[in-house]
Amino acid sequence: MDKKDYYEVLGVSKDATQAEIKSAFRKLAKKYHPDVSKEPDAEEKFKEAQEAYAVLSDEEKRKQYDQFGHAAFNNNGAGGYDFSGFDFSDIFSDLFGQSFSGFSGFSDFDFGSNTKARARKGRDKVINVDLTFEEATKGTTKSISLDINDTCEECHGKGGFDEETCDKCYGKGTITVQQQTLFGAFMTRTTCDKCDGKGVTYARECTNCHGRGTVKTRKELEVKVPAGVDTGNQLRIAGKGEAGTNGGPNGDIYLEFYVKSHPIFERDGSDVYLELPITVSEAALGCKKEIPTLDGRVKLTIPSGSETGDKHRLRGKGIDNINSYGKGDMYVVLKVVTPKKLSREQKKLFEQLAKTKLDNDPEFKKIKDYLK
Ligand SMILES: [Zn+2]
Ligand SMILES: [Zn+2]
Repeated sequence: MDKKDYYEVLGVSKDATQAEIKSAFRKLAKKYHPDVSKEPDAEEKFKEAQEAYAVLSDEEKRKQYDQFGHAAFNNNGAGGYDFSGFDFSDIFSDLFGQSFSGFSGFSDFDFGSNTKARARKGRDKVINVDLTFEEATKGTTKSISLDINDTCEECHGKGGFDEETCDKCYGKGTITVQQQTLFGAFMTRTTCDKCDGKGVTYARECTNCHGRGTVKTRKELEVKVPAGVDTGNQLRIAGKGEAGTNGGPNGDIYLEFYVKSHPIFERDGSDVYLELPITVSEAALGCKKEIPTLDGRVKLTIPSGSETGDKHRLRGKGIDNINSYGKGDMYVVLKVVTPKKLSREQKKLFEQLAKTKLDNDPEFKKIKDYLK
């Protein structure tokens, strides 16, 4: 069967504006809506108009259609554009009244609010966890207590006992109500208010959860925090969040870490930095220094002629890399500290030193040459 051209269906020209397309569709929807129209092929016409509008009201799809015709949307096998996911509710609600969202007779219509209650995953929860620098770098076990809406154990989340089919919706979860509008009376489908769309009711309400199916529960979780986490990292604990609804799975818990700073170590990803103060004479003569690392003390040899900013790398003495194998490195950064207070004896020694020639280093040469 030859499909009718979308522009022809709506009765607009190929270069029609969006406003023209919308107004044309509104006219057809009013005329052919199966709940109000008396014409025998109203449903067919209505569907045709919906399909055409769903395509032409979307600039991207309209372009595809202009280029390829119906072939642009033939991949779903049914032929034509599948408009079941298209949201017509804004047009229908201003045509047929605010609460209108679907209509009887079209079982494949789904506007979300008028359907049987669906299984939904419970809400996720984010918990902030403070860690010391050591806990973050070495890993730790934390017990976390949280209040969540957990499935009621008495009724297993059902909210009651002695299940019966809902006598208002006969188990469908939806009811059809007649509505008076400007265009006459017609039927709309909404969620059953007696069973909240579940399709069943209970003869006895659960006294533990008062019919809600969930109870606020304080939970204690033992969580293994892997070595190497850093501020802002999140750890997902699947299925420990709030209870789902209508048989949906539990939500997840996300632990978000905040790592406190350390008095001497600083962190950059999986590398660790230590600023090491040394004296002027240690810098000039060189020395051996005992320094702290994350895995205990080590001896570091500092060569003569060291300067502020000199970096010593201790390979593999950093933090576990959380995203891959291996460890970061540790960097010891020297800081030569000039003494602020000198004893009489020290002053004498410095004065003696000053009498010797200390400016042989080429670094001094630049200024000297410039002053000449
Ligand atoms: Zn019901
Ligand atoms: Zn209960």
